[in-house]
Amino acid sequence: MNKTAQPQPETREFQAEVKKILDIVINSLYTEREIFLRELISNSADALERFRHQNLTTKDVTDPDLSLEITVTVDKDNHVLTVTDTGIGMDRGELEANLGTIAHSGTRTFLSQLAEGTKDVNLIGQFGVGFYAAFMVASKVTVQSRSFRPDDPGHIWESDGSGTFTITPAQNARRGTTITLKLKEDAKEFADPERIKRIVKQYSSFVPFPIAVDGEAVNTVQALWTKSKNEITAEEYTEFYKYVANAFDEPLLKLHFDTDAPLAIKALLFVPRENFEHFGLGRMEPGVNLYCQRVLIEQRSKTILPEWLRFLKGVIDSEDLPLNISRQALQDSSLVRKINSVVSKRFLKHLEETAKNDAEAYETFWTTFGGFLKEGVVSDFTHRESLGKLLRFESSRTESGKLISLAEYVGRMAEGQKDIYYIHGPNREAIEAGPYTEAFRKRDLEIIYTMEPIDDFVMGHLQEFDGKKLVSADRADLELPDAKDAKEQDTPREDDLTTEAATDLAAWMKQVLGESVKEVKESKRLEDSPAMIVNPDAHVTSSMERIMRAAGSTQGTIPASPKTLEINPRHALIKGLAGLRQKDETFARTVAEQIFDNAMIQAGLLIESRNMVERTYRILERTVTQG
Ligand code: ADP
Repeated sequence: MNKTAQPQPETREFQAEVKKILDIVINSLYTEREIFLRELISNSADALERFRHQNLTTKDVTDPDLSLEITVTVDKDNHVLTVTDTGIGMDRGELEANLGTIAHSGTRTFLSQLAEGTKDVNLIGQFGVGFYAAFMVASKVTVQSRSFRPDDPGHIWESDGSGTFTITPAQNARRGTTITLKLKEDAKEFADPERIKRIVKQYSSFVPFPIAVDGEAVNTVQALWTKSKNEITAEEYTEFYKYVANAFDEPLLKLHFDTDAPLAIKALLFVPRENFEHFGLGRMEPGVNLYCQRVLIEQRSKTILPEWLRFLKGVIDSEDLPLNISRQALQDSSLVRKINSVVSKRFLKHLEETAKNDAEAYETFWTTFGGFLKEGVVSDFTHRESLGKLLRFESSRTESGKLISLAEYVGRMAEGQKDIYYIHGPNREAIEAGPYTEAFRKRDLEIIYTMEPIDDFVMGHLQEFDGKKLVSADRADLELPDAKDAKEQDTPREDDLTTEAATDLAAWMKQVLGESVKEVKESKRLEDSPAMIVNPDAHVTSSMERIMRAAGSTQGTIPASPKTLEINPRHALIKGLAGLRQKDETFARTVAEQIFDNAMIQAGLLIESRNMVERTYRILERTVTQG
């Protein structure tokens, strides 16, 4: 039907998530609208870096002689703004996929939080929605792009943000991308070249390519990390951080270093103020870019640092890397592994120094990012020892909320104390009210409180610190130094069970409890509680077991690995039980079962509550009817 030579636009729908973003961007965001420019320029800079790297390996590219730069033009009269780059460009498929869908998994969560008003629009760039920020100021956005691939003729993408976009083949396109914004009525302020220059200077001064606004150069291209420290001001560091991290605040910590041996490395790393994984936005992408002599080799590199350092932002530059190294080669490269190790070590040393010199900053760091270091202990053998020094915990000697290091613990260990003790519980109060800390209080021994689910795994992997074993207080074979006032306290009172009677009672309880326990035995360490659960397996604490069970393997009321039940022959309940057994064995069995269940609860191990509640009623009923 259509005989004109003009290529017809093809219309496509935006993906549902994109529609949602566009709706928010167009209808709800009125503050800080100027960030749209930062987002577009940062996309252009990425495109230029990707082209530069591509061009090292592929010589057959469109427009090989174009200089790598970003050009902004402002048409004051018609209220039109353009941003042009000579970067890698997008072919038809890429235009459709990149500017019509969102790949990022955290975006959905982000969107709902944004809709609820709990999230700041400033975060928009963090979630791969940067380009759509253009619709904050534009009623129509046109993207002309031509890929570096010689077979791509170039295309024009266009949309008013209302649900669909069109794609049309372009005529005479150059390599790279031009984004044209038809400014909205209420966004005409951005048609002012001076304003645009100010915005570029403020947000994009570290873009490593020349940026010109209406022909005037506005940034000074520099790779900040290659300058020496004393030539860099605090503001420049902060600005650079904002640029690489896509952030709006100041970094929490900064590490800038330069080494020649064993490898030539320049690194500028930042710890942000916020941990985005805390927001339930899923796993963070790594944030450090790998350069070789200022040429970007890999953005947000997955290989240059260990996974548990994914919260770091910044740049690592090594001139020892071959410039044209491929992605695959990066993964297999022993050089990359060496850089990884050198930089990680240096960063951990920096954390140690921070802990020493600026305790407050370290504490803030620990509260926000400590979880990543714990992940490191569990997942990364190479740095385990240095990570051990950076761990912080509460203990029986700290006030609630105050933290100590393992080194502090060791520094004040009691005479004769060989091991470092810890015990897990949901919180301080529960731990201190439970049976496990009694023996420690009596002996005046410090005990670390592990209160996060991962903690016992961390201790289990660390195994020892400074030559001292890390020992969980719920271990069956725990050996504590003798209590100072042991003699006096341990003198049996007249009615205490004799060893013989206690052994006899224990054997009977084992028979009552059957397979649910491995062993019942007299406790040497219980003071005020009648009984407690301890672990015959030295490698698995009750906390670890609970997590593993929750993760799905075993179900039901019986623990995966039967426990040992320790009973306290000095406790009135246990003494009474020995007597009851002679008078009314049936009821004594009921009491024995209840003691076991209570001990299981205190160990944090799930038990099936139905039987237990029913049993408690039976016991209570007897108390009220006989009392
Ligand atoms: P992000 O940049 O965070 O990935 P955007 O929504 O800003 O998210 O952009 C989506 C994708 O579109 C980019 O990842 C990139 O692949 C592509 N893109 C955007 N702008 C350009 C450009 N100027 N040149 C080439 N590709 C671009």
